[in-house]
Amino acid sequence: MTTTTNDPNATISIENVSKHYRDQTALDGLSLKVPEGAVFGLLGENGAGKTTTLSILLGLIRADGGAVRVLGLDPERDGLAIRRRVGYVPEQPALYDWMTVAEAGWFAAGFHPEPVTGTGAYQIRYAELTQGFGLPPNRKIKALSKGMRAKVSLSLALASAPRLLILDEPTSGLDTMVRREFLESMVDLAANGQTVLLSSHQIAEVERVASHVALLHQGKLILSEPLDDLRAHTFSLAVNFQSRDHDPAPPSGLAMELIDAADAPRQARWLVRARDRAACEAVRALPGVESLQIESPSLEDVYIGYMRGRRPEPTSRVGSAHVA
Ligand code: ATP
Repeated sequence: MTTTTNDPNATISIENVSKHYRDQTALDGLSLKVPEGAVFGLLGENGAGKTTTLSILLGLIRADGGAVRVLGLDPERDGLAIRRRVGYVPEQPALYDWMTVAEAGWFAAGFHPEPVTGTGAYQIRYAELTQGFGLPPNRKIKALSKGMRAKVSLSLALASAPRLLILDEPTSGLDTMVRREFLESMVDLAANGQTVLLSSHQIAEVERVASHVALLHQGKLILSEPLDDLRAHTFSLAVNFQSRDHDPAPPSGLAMELIDAADAPRQARWLVRARDRAACEAVRALPGVESLQIESPSLEDVYIGYMRGRRPEPTSRVGSAHVA
């Protein structure tokens, strides 16, 4: 639809995209916008459709239907142009083991014939980046640790000074220090106006660096919004009741949407969306409520709440409810 694909502020727009692999639905009517300059965290469980989404954006696979624009280009028509302009760090970087760190940069420079910031800019930037990461230029790729390989892959992606960087699980298998370093460099990029789309399972890490988050579940979008908005409107309520006989969920008259609920004999935990904390205070006045604590959940709590709210409940769990 033209409203999304023509949005001048969206570096990426995805409109009603579906993808099936034989009888397996990977994406089911996905619509998503990644604004310019965002560090955008794409979250979802195994098989949610994250890699499929990234592959469609890069023109590596075709969607069954819908409209996609990346930097104003259509991946089905202009896949090669997109792959030249976008820095892509795949989950498992494909590097030639027999090359040295320096040779990998020289080789990749051949795929970036149009100098972005001047003649030889790619190799110069690559050398600066690898040096900054402390990578020995003459060491063979096969002799690098996993973290060092990830840094080579990131250096290769960044050396073309791309307006858009796409990373698929970039920190999986890296140690804490390297992960932090890696992700902090994403924030630096965004500060320079570059856009970063990052797929990850590491929710706490995403929370530290992302400006926007999207949750995918079974190929469908559950939410997509600036992290600050999510924080401002999501609350965890611990409601203590006077008796065991109480509402398992907020009554429909309250100005809040229930994401997930867990019940104990005289207590309920409700994860809700509401305009603000004051709107949650209304719970205090419900019949039978003894006390109420309102907390700000972590992104992980929100993620788990949304996921649990959408999963069939194990029969052993009592009294859980949700609003879809
Ligand atoms: P993970 O976090 O485990 O990497 P993901 O969110 O990246 O998962 P996808 O790899 O996009 O998920 O997979 C989405 C769905 O499509 C899954 O059910 C997966 O089994 C299926 N799928 C992905 N690639 C193929 C393929 N080449 N052939 C058949 N089914 C596929």
